[in-house]
Amino acid sequence: MKRYYLKDFSEEELTKIKHSLPNWLSLHIDYDNELSIMVEAFGKHNKTKFCNPVCKYCYTTQIPNSEKKKLINYAKDLYPHDILNNPELKEDILEAKEIAKKIGLPLRISTSGKGLTKEIAKFLEENSDIIEITLNSVNKKTRSEMMRIPEKQSEKEIQIISDLKKSNKVYLSSIISQDNFEEVSEILEFGKGYPKNILIPIAVTKWSSEKFLTKEQRRKVINLAGNYQNVVLAGTFFSELTEFLPLFLEGLDLNREIKHKTLLISSPSFGFVIEEIAKRLKQEFLEIKSSFGGNITSAGLLLGNDIIKALSKNPELLSRVEFVILPYISLNENKFIDGISLEKLSEKFNKPFIKGPKNYFELPEFLDEL
Ligand code: SF4
Repeated sequence: MKRYYLKDFSEEELTKIKHSLPNWLSLHIDYDNELSIMVEAFGKHNKTKFCNPVCKYCYTTQIPNSEKKKLINYAKDLYPHDILNNPELKEDILEAKEIAKKIGLPLRISTSGKGLTKEIAKFLEENSDIIEITLNSVNKKTRSEMMRIPEKQSEKEIQIISDLKKSNKVYLSSIISQDNFEEVSEILEFGKGYPKNILIPIAVTKWSSEKFLTKEQRRKVINLAGNYQNVVLAGTFFSELTEFLPLFLEGLDLNREIKHKTLLISSPSFGFVIEEIAKRLKQEFLEIKSSFGGNITSAGLLLGNDIIKALSKNPELLSRVEFVILPYISLNENKFIDGISLEKLSEKFNKPFIKGPKNYFELPEFLDEL
């Protein structure tokens, strides 16, 4: 299967694709920037039942409903849905298959695999291009505890995932938490031969009692993963690990004069890289944490209101710059997940707010061309 990446598409092309999709399909950007068309778990008719029981690490169940309501651009995704609980799964996938074919991007199904049967697996294999399935552990007991399912079910699902390997369509994905940290080597070994094996550190909001991985634990995972070509690590593994800075800056031309003064905004997960780029290019930098708290440091969860609060406290910083550059991933068609738009920010602070480049390594050129 041919793979497509974010860098191969212009912003106009991406917007055109997004506009051509119904709301139950989305343009999915993977951790390695691979693009696909994904069927949303809530399904075409919004009939997908909520997961019961919910997985121990489920991020969506950590956020109180009162907070979810504020996230208008994201609200439907913040409920514990799995696509396998969609009673119209097959019809939806067949329709999605036609739409993805017309657009020319692979069709991706993303599931925890809870309740996966051989029959459904066969259907997914025949009618989609990428099947992302949560593995979490090759040990039936650990998987059953993390996903709160009976051990027998866990064992059966691991077997189905294993049988699907030959399809060459399965992207494994595992949430790494304190529960399965000691099993990372086994997950990596099991993942050999699958096109992609994705590891994601557990997301811990301020409402959660789970513990995030320590720096030492994350270093260990990064080092182990380095031995496997198909492993993709979520960016949050690198949060605050400044020793990886040279790796991220490799090949960047940071010896240039930028004619405009800008303020680069970043979330803490990648702040150490953006801060260094800002320093070398003599630009201003501000790190802003999502109000979800905990370790939710991903820029994808920054709210427009987080930006407003942080900048209102920093009028001096703002007065020194001509433009404010925001993380690409925080914005969906110029709006944050709480609905606040770039235009609103520009109006409020009387300064142009601009969506940054798709990848951090395009920043120097992007600033040059302002
Ligand atoms: S399957 Fe996914 S959405 Fe459902 S409870 Fe588990 S983590 Fe949450």
